[in-house]
Amino acid sequence: MSLEIPKNLKLRLKKFLFFVVFFLVALFLAIPFYDDIFLANIPRFFPAPLAGKCIIIDPGHGGPDGGAKGIYGAVEKDITLKISLLLRDFLQEAGAYVVMTREVDKDLADKGILSFNRRKTQDLMRRVSLVHKKRADIFVSIHLNFFRDKNLRGSQAFYNPVLKKIKSLLFVSKKNLLGI
Ligand SMILES: [Zn+2]
Repeated sequence: MSLEIPKNLKLRLKKFLFFVVFFLVALFLAIPFYDDIFLANIPRFFPAPLAGKCIIIDPGHGGPDGGAKGIYGAVEKDITLKISLLLRDFLQEAGAYVVMTREVDKDLADKGILSFNRRKTQDLMRRVSLVHKKRADIFVSIHLNFFRDKNLRGSQAFYNPVLKKIKSLLFVSKKNLLGI
C-alpha cells in the first residue's frame, strides 16, 4: 500500500521548500553585509573623551620634602601621591595619556645633593622642565595646604588667569564634587 500525497499538498510543499531555500540563499548572500544591516545604528566603539590629550599629574613634594603635616601626623607627600595615583587611573580610563612626575616617595633631585634647599630647587626645576618637554595639554599639581586657622576649610585651586575656560570649569567641578 503506497501513500499517495495529494497534488495540492505536493505543490504547497514545493512552494515551502522553495521559500526555505530562497531564504537560506538570501541569508548566505547577506552575510558580508550583516554588520551594515543589523549593526548600522550601534556604535562599534565608544570613543574615549580624553583620547589624544596629554596630562601631567604632579603629586606635590616627595622624598625628603614631606610638605605639610597634619595634626595627627599625616604627611602631605603621602596623600598627594595617593590622590594622584587615583587620578591617573581615572584619566587613563578616559583615554588620556598621563605622565606622572613621580609614582613613589621620592623627589626629582640628583642623589648626591645633600642640601635641602638645593634639592628643592632642582626638584621644582625638573618638574617644570617636564611640563615643557611633554607639551602637555594640562598640568595638575596636587597639594594639601595646612591652615592654623580652624575656620578656614575647603579646597583651593590656583590657575593661569589667561585660561578663562579653566576658571569656569574649576568652579563647576568644585560645586559638583563638593557642593560648595
Ligand atoms: Zn604642598
